[in-house]
Amino acid sequence: MKRAIVLLSGGLDSATCLAQARKDGFECYALSFDYGQRHRCELSASEQTAKHLGAKEFRIFKLDLAQWGGSALTDDAIDVPDHSDSGIPITYVPARNMVFLSLATAWGEVLGAHDIYIGVNSVDYSGYPDCRKPFIESFAETARLGTCAVDENWKWNIHTPLQALSKAEIIKLGISLGVDYSMTTSCYNPDKAGRSCGKCDSCFLRHRGFVEAGVADPTLYSDGVTFP
Ligand code: ZN
Repeated sequence: MKRAIVLLSGGLDSATCLAQARKDGFECYALSFDYGQRHRCELSASEQTAKHLGAKEFRIFKLDLAQWGGSALTDDAIDVPDHSDSGIPITYVPARNMVFLSLATAWGEVLGAHDIYIGVNSVDYSGYPDCRKPFIESFAETARLGTCAVDENWKWNIHTPLQALSKAEIIKLGISLGVDYSMTTSCYNPDKAGRSCGKCDSCFLRHRGFVEAGVADPTLYSDGVTFP
């Protein structure tokens, strides 16, 4: 059985990606990162999702991107903003997907897995440059040149099955593949009990996705959260 590394964040998109990788016939190795993020409940969500969707192995790789901060997700001095529609938001974590994909290729070489799944998306995404197609294509080539692939004549397949889907389409796909979204968490600023804030970009996009998909939103929100 062919192996694939699946980057798992604990959120809705990456859970759907894992389900798609399994459907595509891969033995899945799920990889999450403890990178100093403030929304740490996503790590337990990742583990639960990996188990539920039958990952062969689940790893949490520790690295501390909070050492230099620079993002509302890793720097306590920067507040998570409410949803807005313009520019690259302060929740962008500098070069995060480049770092994560590099580590995925490192594990992939060890496992003999040349396929990597990542849940990047160009439709309902938050304007992050490392979620765009040109970056992913360029990274695949960089990884080929920087690993044994170049001498052994193989290439990395970076799968982005959600790239062109809306959030609602992702949710419908995931439900058809058996994803239980109540296990996932997408909020950038959850409360101490791990409940979602209902105000950040990620909560906004996620909730709108469920509404547009015509599916009840299973997210646990903080007390008093209402949507217009
Ligand atoms: Zn939120």
